[in-house]
Amino acid sequence: VISLDEAQAAVLAGCAPLPAVCWPLAVADRCVVATDVVAAEAVPGFDNSAMDGFAVRADDLTGAAGPVEFSIVGQALAGHPLSMEVGPGECARIMTGAPLPRGADTVVPVERTVGATWPPADAGSVLLVSEGVARGDHVRRAGEDVRSGDVVVTRGSVLTPARLGVIASVGHASVVVHARPRVGVFTTGDELVGPGWPLAAGQIRDSNRVGLLAQLARDGFAPVDLGRVDDDEGELAAALGAAVRRCDALLTTGGVSMGEVDLVRVVLDRVGDMQWMQVAIKPAKPFAFGVVEAPGGAGRPVRRVPVFGLPGNPVSALVSYELLARPGLRRLAGHGDGDLVRAPVPAVADDGLTRRPDGKLHAMRVVASLAGDGRWHVHPSGAQGSHQLGGMAAANALALVPDGDGVPPGGTVDIVLFG
Ligand code: AMP
Ligand code: MG
Repeated sequence: VISLDEAQAAVLAGCAPLPAVCWPLAVADRCVVATDVVAAEAVPGFDNSAMDGFAVRADDLTGAAGPVEFSIVGQALAGHPLSMEVGPGECARIMTGAPLPRGADTVVPVERTVGATWPPADAGSVLLVSEGVARGDHVRRAGEDVRSGDVVVTRGSVLTPARLGVIASVGHASVVVHARPRVGVFTTGDELVGPGWPLAAGQIRDSNRVGLLAQLARDGFAPVDLGRVDDDEGELAAALGAAVRRCDALLTTGGVSMGEVDLVRVVLDRVGDMQWMQVAIKPAKPFAFGVVEAPGGAGRPVRRVPVFGLPGNPVSALVSYELLARPGLRRLAGHGDGDLVRAPVPAVADDGLTRRPDGKLHAMRVVASLAGDGRWHVHPSGAQGSHQLGGMAAANALALVPDGDGVPPGGTVDIVLFG
């Protein structure tokens, strides 16, 4: 029996970041950037107006005793620059985002015109308030946001909608990221039947697959549904072989305990470099982890595909995923060492958390809420059996209760917030 830390270390030793790939921005959200993104273009690319109003020369307004009359020479719209120059005593109508015409250096917003209707006539004149106008007002300067050559997103950053927008704004249509891991999931067990199909005697629903596939998608990985496999060595070996060719990592559930037909670990042991673990946690004690070699394709080197043999019990499968598989998958995705596991936060166990000493860390399913005192408070979310998915479904956190007699009412416990 090994500790959770030791099991995590064994997993991480078998997981390396996937190679960098150049991906279109549209598919790269949540990926980890593999090289600094350098601006190819300045933002803004040209001086432009921050307001709807009139582009003028500030010299014509500064020092004036009252409103000044300007003759309107034309208009500049976003995407439609004005070709003529604005001379002394002249102004141009200008809309937000339009290039500042030559000659002009300041924008007077429409709110600071005297008696004008908006939009004003194409030609004619307009009275502009002179008070409080300073040169450069309401002009966005070329390069004031980003200069060409600036690093806008650093290597190791996780892409977000705003970062994707920044990368687009500086002229790139693609970004170099660690490939999003394609993670296959197959469940094992002769007794399993997919939702919607009739149950025969002794059969149960396959609940693990849909849950794990959904969790993978939430975590930013690309889930691949590989179906259900019988408790049969030949079939398991074939399924495993096919899976590692298609995927960057594989999750299986079931078949890693001590039972007669717990064959996943047997097969994994034969085809890969496997570690079968008894982890000192409850639930999710049995766990198998192996690395299976798969062809790289097109002259590329052999790929080392991590395989996570999660336990079959539904709660165990999800807890094992959270504590053991997810950190390994995040390393594949290129996340840094400090960003592999969700950091535990302290919480108050209002009614206590009951357990007995058994040498294990208990990952109890709890409902956590942030209270008015600024602290997290938790209570058990329901029945705590490893087969009782209802308690997991009601939970938004795992309380990590160390070996011993549990947490007294009002005591503190570390929690991992996953929901
Ligand atoms: P195993 O580890 O294969 O012995 O499975 C442990 C328990 O989990 C057994 O009661 C299985 O029937 C159940 N189980 C295994 N796989 C699944 C699954 N995909 N969905 C729901 N229950 C499962
Ligand atoms: Mg089984």
